[in-house]
Amino acid sequence: MMKNDEQQGGCMCGSIRYAVSGKTVWSAGCCCRDCAKATGTPYVVWVGFPPERVRYLSGAPRVYTSSEGVLRGFCETCGTSLTYGRDPAFEAVEPTLYIAAATLDDPAAYPPTEVVWYGQRPGWYDLSTDIPLHETISVENAARSLNHVLKNK
Ligand SMILES: [Zn+2]
Ligand SMILES: [Zn+2]
Repeated sequence: MMKNDEQQGGCMCGSIRYAVSGKTVWSAGCCCRDCAKATGTPYVVWVGFPPERVRYLSGAPRVYTSSEGVLRGFCETCGTSLTYGRDPAFEAVEPTLYIAAATLDDPAAYPPTEVVWYGQRPGWYDLSTDIPLHETISVENAARSLNHVLKNK
């Protein structure tokens, strides 16, 4: 299966290239305001891997702490949003590094299984999909609810 193969991706200018492999931990769409701000789009799909299965082939993202314990990686040259992760001290589950699915060479490689923070999307934006659309977090994946539990504490 495709999922167990290595997939590669990178930023717009090409200075950062990465490879991921193996099964994803969680692949979810997010419509939260922080992801929207960080990426400039109302809907981002994050594909999570154990950090040791994300390998940089060239360059590395610069990391911005967008809220306490939340680390967002981007290319310093072209600004592409590449990664989402938590400082290990703030990780509620096993360490996970999320890659922005749109930066994969094959952006369809890891389809999202659900969407979180759908309630924060702009009023003009609706997704047409069969996967669950959660207004806030996913109950099943509450511990992975991206940054919001931490942010609101
Ligand atoms: Zn770049
Ligand atoms: Zn988000």
